[in-house]
Amino acid sequence: MSISIEPEKCVGCGRCTEVCPGNLLEMTAGKAAIREVRDCWGCTACVKECPRDAIFYYLSADLGGAGGRLYAHDTAVSLTWQLRLPDGSEQEIIVAKNKANAY
Ligand code: SF4
Ligand code: SF4
Repeated sequence: MSISIEPEKCVGCGRCTEVCPGNLLEMTAGKAAIREVRDCWGCTACVKECPRDAIFYYLSADLGGAGGRLYAHDTAVSLTWQLRLPDGSEQEIIVAKNKANAY
């Protein structure tokens, strides 16, 4: 379980480094980087925080994810999870924040 960072998308805002509860992310030459991938427990806080889609959560085959990439778009009213699969297909799950605790 881990995230991955796409440096070409990273604009160096540093927001992800401020939310990681394990302090695993750092800025290197103006780009975010993860110190040690094996230490990431996949909380997805950094995925949700990144404003540029530069961080995704990797869904490995052993998790049933078939190598998919999970991105998040977080707004004041909703959280959208976007799953991009290797075959090019996409799925979205939209969670309304005012109903997030209704289940
Ligand atoms: S998924 Fe969580 S633990 Fe892993 S790097 Fe991002 S914020 Fe840190
Ligand atoms: S939040 Fe996204 S754009 Fe900002 S430093 Fe982290 S990876 Fe780069």
